[in-house]
Amino acid sequence: MKTIKRYYEHPNWREMETLSNKLISTNFNQIHLQVIEDIATLENGHLSEYVYPSICDEHKTRNENCDECWDIDKDYPIWNATFEIKNPNDEWIFDHIDTIQKCGFITIQPFHCFNTILGFNGGGYNFHEMHWIPLFLNVFENREMIKLYEVAK
Ligand SMILES: [Zn+2]
Repeated sequence: MKTIKRYYEHPNWREMETLSNKLISTNFNQIHLQVIEDIATLENGHLSEYVYPSICDEHKTRNENCDECWDIDKDYPIWNATFEIKNPNDEWIFDHIDTIQKCGFITIQPFHCFNTILGFNGGGYNFHEMHWIPLFLNVFENREMIKLYEVAK
């Protein structure tokens, strides 16, 4: 599915934003970064060991020999709010990990009792527009969101 850059110019923007809020609370548990950091430290050292690095700007798919494709430092969450996916289907998540990361999410692999956790390392823009709505359209393929998006786009 092609995406548009400016969702807030969409005629259904308000409805999409409202639905996005609803979908976040039905599909994610919000967890403080510090909580997962503390548990990661107790388990095995540091949370960064569980960060799944995103593909670098140069490569379309993850390159085994590229340091940047495996660099976790560029992918550490900076916001306190992180979001654990309630759906524990690791295979589904792993199949979509590149798309999730293209929607701008930091991804943390399942560890301890947590499923995959999403975080952010950007700011100064609307998170629904830049992250959540693209996620619900392209990864969750939520029918209600697709309908809102496709009507009068
Ligand atoms: Zn690379």
